[in-house]
Amino acid sequence: MTPRTTPPSQRDDDRRSAKTSLLAIYQLLYKQYGPQHWWPAETPLEMVVGAILTQSAAWINVEKAIRNLKASTDLSIEGLQSLPQGELARLIHPSGYYNVKARKIRAFIDWLAEEYDGDLDKLFALDTAELRNELLSVHGVGEETADSIILYGAHQPIFVIDAYTRRIITRLGLAPCEGTYAAYQGVFMDNLPHDEAMFNEYHALLVQHGKTFCRKKPVCAGCCLDNLCPSNEQTSR
Ligand code: SF4
Repeated sequence: MTPRTTPPSQRDDDRRSAKTSLLAIYQLLYKQYGPQHWWPAETPLEMVVGAILTQSAAWINVEKAIRNLKASTDLSIEGLQSLPQGELARLIHPSGYYNVKARKIRAFIDWLAEEYDGDLDKLFALDTAELRNELLSVHGVGEETADSIILYGAHQPIFVIDAYTRRIITRLGLAPCEGTYAAYQGVFMDNLPHDEAMFNEYHALLVQHGKTFCRKKPVCAGCCLDNLCPSNEQTSR
């Protein structure tokens, strides 16, 4: 039996259509919510620590943990290193999984001090692929956390995939055949210009949309993407 393949002309059409849809979605979300000003951090180290703390945590609880760390350590490398592990866990208690996260923060800080003289600028000077490999080698840094650090900390263009992004893109009929992180990331990276400012805003807008309209149980009435969405509950009843 001859294997079925997609003719090149159809692949080009699919790509054009994904690109058009992704740009239209971005424009509609931006019009709806405006600029999101991500990542909300005063320093690159605060951003990195926040990216670890936000794993399985609501941002409001991360903010409480960050406030505790700032008050106690100024959120400096030296300050964090000087904290006993139990004290670090106590300070980040509001973010949940505090013992696990304390180990992850410690692992990152020790690694940064050892490998990059505690200098985030040195780390962020690596090119995107190398930086991603380096970050993924650190205990507790998975793909979403690594990509958040690359985009929002190092200001390099990479698309962050999280649960909100997966949910919205799937409902909009743009999910890739494979459900992997890389496949979802490819939907954006293969179809959009690699523009750091746009990737920053786009991801933040998707998070906002996932919290307001496209929740686990979607609120389709009034959704700005309703005309593009095959899962629109207003039309699928
Ligand atoms: S129409 Fe409904 S399912 Fe589609 S993006 Fe909007 S809220 Fe989500």
